Amino acid sequence: MNLHEYQGKSILKQFGVAIQEGIVADTPEQAVEAAKTLQEQTGTGWWVVKSQIHAGGRGKGKIEGTEQRGVALAKSLDEVKQISSNILGKKLITLQTGEKGKTVNKVLIAQDVYYPGAEKPSEFYMSVLLNRGSGRNVIMYSTEGGMDIESVAEHTPHLIFKEEVDPRVGLRDFQCRQIAFNLGLSGDSFKSMVKFVQALYKAYESIDASMFEINPVLKTSDSKIIAVDSKVTLDGNGLYRHPDLAALRDTSEEDATEVEAGSYGLNYVKLDGNVGCMVNGAGLAMATMDIIKLSGGEPANFLDVGGTANAARVEQAFRIILRDENVKAILVNIFGGIVRCDRVAQGIVDAYKNIGDIKVPIIVRLQGTNAEEAKQIIEHSGLKVFSAIQLQEAADLVKQVLA
Ligand code: GDP
Ligand code: MN
Repeated sequence: MNLHEYQGKSILKQFGVAIQEGIVADTPEQAVEAAKTLQEQTGTGWWVVKSQIHAGGRGKGKIEGTEQRGVALAKSLDEVKQISSNILGKKLITLQTGEKGKTVNKVLIAQDVYYPGAEKPSEFYMSVLLNRGSGRNVIMYSTEGGMDIESVAEHTPHLIFKEEVDPRVGLRDFQCRQIAFNLGLSGDSFKSMVKFVQALYKAYESIDASMFEINPVLKTSDSKIIAVDSKVTLDGNGLYRHPDLAALRDTSEEDATEVEAGSYGLNYVKLDGNVGCMVNGAGLAMATMDIIKLSGGEPANFLDVGGTANAARVEQAFRIILRDENVKAILVNIFGGIVRCDRVAQGIVDAYKNIGDIKVPIIVRLQGTNAEEAKQIIEHSGLKVFSAIQLQEAADLVKQVLA
């Protein structure tokens, strides 16, 4: 689950990470109020209006059909209002959203922190994430922060440093000092960076995040170290421990069909192919997608119906798969262990009859407890459903119906 910048920053603040302060707004009028409040709180006379969407690249991105950037500096309350009304309710297109863009429902009105001063501000990159290869958390950081860390990684990978954390002892102070040193800091900003890294890492661990990225981490002209942006991915499997964080979910940022599937307990991810799949178990679902590819098809989706493949669930799954107009065939691949194949077969037949008017062929492969009985039920149903026991048979049937 992803969080918005303003939500991530509020978490950072709770853990003692210094941030660029801001107030979120839904309308241009609220944006002006937010700007005034922020002026009282921080003394700032300039503001940045920041589109809140679940995608990066906002600073370079543009509002559809205009030259308005997704992050823009406002030097007066009038500009705050103007920019906010240019952005709110419109589509922002960035490198990460693709051409479709994403509708901006909220803006964050933030204090300007790039004010002129004794020194030029520096932008660093920092993220904490899980390295699945080593099974350890790693802090990645670079002096080359700002907008385009992907191209830094591609063209100058030696400018990206890594610090791995040993889970037995946690993040050590010397590692934080190493980071501050490699970022070229000294004096007060060195000390502030050490505190920054410690607090960021604590936040990352405490909320069960799988990624916490700050780009840029800013060294202001008066040598403060602050988080200007924040991008957080929470581990869905840890969410049950954090009901307060689960409540931050913004489903308007997610694919509507995937959200609906989730509410039925179905694990569904839409893909671009032509063969719909309905499978129990994520591993079997992956294998099924492979088999579809090998027989010349392209999977239209990933769908794990979970352990209880009952009639109601199968019906919901069919309805969701059939909503995709690209689907030319459906492959149902269920392994009956605890759930008996004959019950699943009956569920499929019932679901089929309930939905009625299914135009695409359905291939059902049921294997495991009572597989033979299941095959009988499917074959005697009189429906346009093909049955198989071996996976290869099922794959051949897919090939046949696509031809
Ligand atoms: P992203 O493009 O989606 O990663 O959004 P960011 O929050 O990182 O902001 C993009 C860029 O806006 C930053 O890299 C800065 O260059 C600029 N920016 C952010 N905050 C300020 C600010 O307070 N003042 C000024 N002048 N620019 C800012
Ligand atoms: Mn950024």
